[in-house]
Amino acid sequence: MLKNIRIVLVDTSHPGNIGAAARAMKNMALSQLHLVTPQLFPHQEATSRASGADDLLNSARVSGSLDEALAGCRLVVGTSARSRSVEWPVVSPREAAAKLVEEARQGDVALVFGRERSGLTNSELDRCTFLVNIPTNEAYSSLNLGAAVQVLAYEIYIAQRGEPEAVLESRRDLATAEMLQGFHEHLAQALDDIGFTDPRQSQKLLRRLRSLFQRARPDKDEINIMRGILSAMQGRKSMRR
Ligand code: SAH
Repeated sequence: MLKNIRIVLVDTSHPGNIGAAARAMKNMALSQLHLVTPQLFPHQEATSRASGADDLLNSARVSGSLDEALAGCRLVVGTSARSRSVEWPVVSPREAAAKLVEEARQGDVALVFGRERSGLTNSELDRCTFLVNIPTNEAYSSLNLGAAVQVLAYEIYIAQRGEPEAVLESRRDLATAEMLQGFHEHLAQALDDIGFTDPRQSQKLLRRLRSLFQRARPDKDEINIMRGILSAMQGRKSMRR
């Protein structure tokens, strides 16, 4: 899945930054480096900064235009040192990483980095579905290119590592909407029966309890347990017993 994530560097002037980006990528198990019109590449400085990640430099794809580097991608995320939220939606590194990892399961995706001096042009930003901004000191917001690659590659690594848990969660046999509705009606009734709430004044409390159970995402068994408890509270035996 990480093989479907391209790191695209546009018009990089310092070959050392290309090497630093390759190293940052390899640390975080990313391998697809795309270079759009790099000013000096291949270059000794790139190789030395890449340290043991020169295999990524050797397999890097060099293209003449951004469109060529983005060919076949279903999602393109741009990076911006400023939060220019008016024209392009801007998300956090964590949100961007989650989206990239999710979409990379279906096909190729790209994360695009700009020039050291001037970042990405507006027409390059137009290629992007959304932008990601790394939050920084407002008075000094521009990271070194290699450092920016490191931060985002790390978030991607963490996002995909969390995947088994997310999959586990999605495999749980979650209670359906009808089951939840039935449970909340039962809960309201039971709280009323034991004199805990007055049904006319309890809307706010019941809404808070709803949000508690929405957060917990109970499965079917858990809802059955809760309903058994409610029946016992009401002095009735659970229907299953
Ligand atoms: N003056 C430029 C800064 C470019 S920094 C500008 O305002 O856009 C070089 C590249 O590093 C950027 O194009 C971006 O890809 C990345 N970068 C630097 N700081 C960043 C930040 N805070 N958030 C996201 N990307 C950043």
